[in-house]
Amino acid sequence: MKEILLCKYGEIVLKGANRRFFEDTLCKTLRFRAKHYGSFTITRSQSTLVIEPNDEFADIDGMFESASKVFGIVGISRCAVCEKDMSAIERTVKEYVPQFLDGKKTFKVEAKRSDKRFPLDSMRICAEVGGYVLETLPHLRVDVHNPEIVVHVEIREFAAYIHAGQFKGAGGMPVGSNGKALLLLSGGIDSPVAGYMIAKRGVQIDAVHFESFPYTSERAKEKVLELAREVAQYAGSFNVHVVSLTHIQEELVKTCEEDYFTLLLRRYMMAIADRLAHKLGCGGLITGESLGQVASQTMQAIGVTDPVATLPVFRPCIGMDKEEIVQIARKIGTFETSIQPYEDCCTVFTPKHPRTRPELAKVLAEEQKLDFEALVQEALDGAYVERVRTEF
Ligand code: ATP
Ligand code: MG
Repeated sequence: MKEILLCKYGEIVLKGANRRFFEDTLCKTLRFRAKHYGSFTITRSQSTLVIEPNDEFADIDGMFESASKVFGIVGISRCAVCEKDMSAIERTVKEYVPQFLDGKKTFKVEAKRSDKRFPLDSMRICAEVGGYVLETLPHLRVDVHNPEIVVHVEIREFAAYIHAGQFKGAGGMPVGSNGKALLLLSGGIDSPVAGYMIAKRGVQIDAVHFESFPYTSERAKEKVLELAREVAQYAGSFNVHVVSLTHIQEELVKTCEEDYFTLLLRRYMMAIADRLAHKLGCGGLITGESLGQVASQTMQAIGVTDPVATLPVFRPCIGMDKEEIVQIARKIGTFETSIQPYEDCCTVFTPKHPRTRPELAKVLAEEQKLDFEALVQEALDGAYVERVRTEF
């Protein structure tokens, strides 16, 4: 039996001139992903994208999984395609539809007849198809006002489409429809979630990861690249720019007051990320900060690290509890990787008594003991790129 996918996209973003751009971006993403699963044709019809395999080698299950992680799609239906005659439709309904009606008690049939030459009108098609369903699953009941599931039959120009129910899509807007931002990606739970959330709003992602080799290990970096691959399942492939903070941290330890290490280091991180973002054409930064979660994320601490950035800083986790962030991490498949115990540059040289209510003047006085600009430039000069490519 031939199966195709019908992808529904949200209505809100479809107003006016945006529609074309939105659809083009979405089609481009789907076509790119489809290449991994064989030969497919992708076309649009009303507010639906139709994904159709061109031969029996195309992996429709793989394509379905992949499409369910594409932002901009709100729902996906798996749909059987058969000949436009009632005996073929009967066979298909009886074979294909029951799997979607599992656990349901009520249903109704909706028929659409685009091909007006088809001998039965919509009402007759509904009645016939309703009968086929009831013959196969006699415990079901027809409820035309409030059915648990709707069985659709569409008589199109070249074939009949049969589908029931809809799987939830990833929602959001197509990646690439809303600019580009640089994600500060650590090995923790929060920053991969933050990247996912901003990508969901249509933003293309690039990432920067700070390491502190040899205080942080090669394995710690591998873990971050693994997280990046997991986020890329949704956000699309991106680059991770790796920047070493080793020299900066050693200088801080030698020269500055211990209580301020973390804050000073975070100012360096923001400055480096901000410069890199400008160079990469990004319009913003993304962090996984959550208000009050740790000493460096109190309002006052964010108040002394935020002004370093010239670009807007997006902090989608700022008002979320850890448990809520964990829930998303589990859903998108990053949680198990995040909890692997490897060191982060922020966890080496941590002060015993970090300042939770720092004063900017005191932080600046500490910062001026070192040549901030020169250290930032040196770190940027040493940056290298890890390309993250995922099999969608
Ligand atoms: P996460 O779970 O994302 O690691 P966290 O609760 O551990 O967050 P911090 O270590 O204070 O918090 O980091 C706050 C934010 O700073 C992170 O969410 C991330 O965006 C950024 N960050 C921290 N460490 C790094 C790093 N090594 N490389 C890049 N960004 C980092
Ligand atoms: Mg962290």
